[in-house]
Amino acid sequence: MPARLKNIFSDFLTLLFPVFCQACERTLAAGEDLVCTHCRLKLPYTNVHLPPPELNPLSIKFYGKLPIKHVLAYLYFNRAGRTQRLLHALKYRGVQEVGELLGTWYGHALGEAGYTDAFDIVVPVPLHPRKRRQRGYNQSDSFAKGLADALGRPWSNQVLKRTQYTASQTHKNRTERWENVAQVFQVMNPHIIQGKKVLLVDDVITTGATLEACALTLLNAGCAEVSVGAIAAA
Ligand SMILES: [Zn+2]
Repeated sequence: MPARLKNIFSDFLTLLFPVFCQACERTLAAGEDLVCTHCRLKLPYTNVHLPPPELNPLSIKFYGKLPIKHVLAYLYFNRAGRTQRLLHALKYRGVQEVGELLGTWYGHALGEAGYTDAFDIVVPVPLHPRKRRQRGYNQSDSFAKGLADALGRPWSNQVLKRTQYTASQTHKNRTERWENVAQVFQVMNPHIIQGKKVLLVDDVITTGATLEACALTLLNAGCAEVSVGAIAAA
């Protein structure tokens, strides 16, 4: 189809099926994709990747536990705010493109801040196979792919496996949560990460217990170092 006709056709489709911003639910303007320009400006960026790293407020989640090289999260989690709506679209409404878009944006921001050589491979935290079947996908995969592509690095969801279907963490205290996740992960293909600088990614960092359990599993399997990255920090 000629380009002009294609544009008219796509404008016509937009008129029939308006496309909404995944962060504020307003109708997107022509040229906007998934997130409107206003929301992109107003997202609650953590900017923890910018120096000085010793003042990174997220690092405290892992102090005294594991040597995590970089602790990164793109956005702050705000209840009933833009971040929550984006995560909801990604996790519960099947809009996997949101994960890839945020990964791409964050990957470019990290690249501009000099992180390009900080990671050899991006590895998403896996879902239990049963949960993955229920949802149809792992919400962290698309974020990992966007990040990896923007950083010019590979990503793999064939490294980690979740072997137990954990119950909800909501009513457990910190120690119980840790015990709950400590034995949950396995490395399937250690050769992929041995001697590598791994960027382990998840949708949200809350207590850090899940990321900590994955990171320990990766370190035990012989990777050189682990950094963690999330779409949002609660
Ligand atoms: Zn918006």
